[in-house]
Amino acid sequence: MEPAGPVVEPKPYFSIGLRDQPRRSSLTPHDRFSGWTGRLDLEIRVVSAYLHVGSGVIKVDAADRAYAAFVRRDGELIIPGSSIKGAIRSIVEAISNSCVRQGAGRAEIPPSHESCETIRPGQEEKATLCPACALFGATGYRGRVHFADARPVSQVSTSIVKIAELWEPRRAGGRKFYHVKQFRPLDDRPELNHRFVEAVPRGARFSTVLTFENTTSAEMALLIRALGIERDPDRPGNGTFIFTPKLGGGKPRCLGAVRFVPRALRTVDPGAGKLIPSLAAGGRARSLGSVLDRWLSDDRLLDRQAWKDFTRQMQATDASCPTGLY
Ligand SMILES: [Zn+2]
Repeated sequence: MEPAGPVVEPKPYFSIGLRDQPRRSSLTPHDRFSGWTGRLDLEIRVVSAYLHVGSGVIKVDAADRAYAAFVRRDGELIIPGSSIKGAIRSIVEAISNSCVRQGAGRAEIPPSHESCETIRPGQEEKATLCPACALFGATGYRGRVHFADARPVSQVSTSIVKIAELWEPRRAGGRKFYHVKQFRPLDDRPELNHRFVEAVPRGARFSTVLTFENTTSAEMALLIRALGIERDPDRPGNGTFIFTPKLGGGKPRCLGAVRFVPRALRTVDPGAGKLIPSLAAGGRARSLGSVLDRWLSDDRLLDRQAWKDFTRQMQATDASCPTGLY
């Protein structure tokens, strides 16, 4: 007789190991105009069965079920720019061998990968930061990239979806990401250790803008790769979607896989002296394909081994997501 007990399913996540010392370099000043400054318009398409980005608000539906509401602003569904930035930063950290930002439950970080130093006023000239902190910011240093809140491209309706409760796995000396597998629907009954979330379905589309300031091509390459785009080896000069980043909540239950589709690019030409011209004034429209290819050809900040591991593990499979313990 087999002993009865909970069925434990395969883990829905993987880790990217921490190797070598992060390569830290001196700060890019904000008061001089150099490199790339501009905006990349992006469409976000929901690729998994659902996307849920929680606002922290709990509502009750007509069937008396309590559910976690999707974020809204002025009545409109949005994906906050901060949550897009957080997801993309985590990928940039992994593929550039950057530091691991400190937070709750992150006790097993080796000294080499502890958070970069706090930048104190007057110490900017001597300070160094890892690639992710240099791009996204560190304590005392403002980041040079920003995502606007993403708004629906067209009418998007939501559903109330039941998922099993989530248990955060213990952090194990690496960076954790969730595999891209298939969502398994559950019945609608309220049940112990389950909850309901408001989610938008596959095919829903949002638009956001990535603005960047004084970046290098190698930094732009990290960002574009973190959005899931790589050069197509079979079609030189073209990009290809290589994986779907995950946004929002319920990632262990296979929610949140999205595709970032570049739509338009505008840049501000350097040489305008010390004043960074306002992008609101327009900037110059650029050919997406050729600039993206130029950026992606600069892989000086890329940890090739981590990139290889990451993209392999992020490939979508037809396997079902665990609905129970793992
Ligand atoms: Zn850092």
